[in-house]
Amino acid sequence: MARRLLILGSTGSIGTQALDIVARDPELELVGLSAERSADALIEQARSFGVDRIALADADAGARAAEAWTDGEVLSGAEGLVRLVVESDADLVLNALVGSAGLGPTVAALGEGIDLALANKESLVVGGELVMALAEGTGAQILPVDSEHSALHQLIAGEGAGGTASIDKLVLTASGGPFRGRSRAELADVSIQDALAHPTWDMGGKITIDSATLMNKGLEVIEAHHLFGIGYDRIDVVVHPQSIVHSMITLCDGAALAHLGYPDMRVPISYALHHPDRVDVPVRALDLTEVGALTFEPVDHEAFPALGLARAAAIAGGTGPCVLNAANEIAVHAFLGERLSFLGIAAVIEGTLERLPAAPVRAFESLYEADREARTIATELVEAWSQRLLH
Ligand code: MG
Repeated sequence: MARRLLILGSTGSIGTQALDIVARDPELELVGLSAERSADALIEQARSFGVDRIALADADAGARAAEAWTDGEVLSGAEGLVRLVVESDADLVLNALVGSAGLGPTVAALGEGIDLALANKESLVVGGELVMALAEGTGAQILPVDSEHSALHQLIAGEGAGGTASIDKLVLTASGGPFRGRSRAELADVSIQDALAHPTWDMGGKITIDSATLMNKGLEVIEAHHLFGIGYDRIDVVVHPQSIVHSMITLCDGAALAHLGYPDMRVPISYALHHPDRVDVPVRALDLTEVGALTFEPVDHEAFPALGLARAAAIAGGTGPCVLNAANEIAVHAFLGERLSFLGIAAVIEGTLERLPAAPVRAFESLYEADREARTIATELVEAWSQRLLH
């Protein structure tokens, strides 16, 4: 039976790769698409996939799209995205939005009991407890699209009804990004182009910078904690430059299971869109003799303090991860705008966490407020840093 699919963030890296999966599978019926502000690209996608409802998060882009495209309905703004979700009658929503802007649509989908293919890790970083409780309450499933979590989802499923009881540790692999092996001093003057040159994965700008700082892995530790209900002391990170092992679980009897494959996001996207089935994806079968060697090394926490900051914020709990994420979004944006140095990213996050200690979270409103406050403080810190030209 056809599965009705809504894609949020369809013009981004995950979104376009998801459309490649959809184009190969007549059983996936697209019922809506959204983008931040790429109106022309979104309209083009809607035409080629026969979609009659689109949404643009940016209101001005939405107004432009409504003039340019009269074959269907154009929604706009944050409310437009939520309406697209709630009124879509979708069986599955792929949330491929960037940043904490993804939280609202995640809540809308799960609240409606719609299964969620989640590429927006910030939804769980910011609102983990509330989001998981909401999914449990409505019975909606969350299927991770992040490659490490997709791997873990498959490995844990292999443990059967026992679930995580036999699992000793989750081990997330990290490529180490473009700056692996460099010392802190060697990171002082790196450029945006250097940071955007990821060695193994082809991804969007924000996540590529997060991979360069290792904040991406910090966010993923938090994501794994919520998705699989495993304590932070049982989630490890290991650097694995080849990105062939996508993650591993170690078990109570001394066995360890790993998930392997060439790095191609269409694999985890297809898994999430077809679960519990598997379908063909045009990716080569893994040839270990071609790969030759798989290597592993520990994280250099002095050169890459972001992972430690994320872990500390996660353990502090409450609004901690929300503040961490908001400060990171502001800092990465400033780095991409050449208003902050690479080392300044972690410094701004650390400063924001110091000025906004973790507070308990009772409702989504406290998260939205912490997000706003953290953005204001992080923006001030970016300003202070660029004025002093500190590294
Ligand atoms: Mg990942």
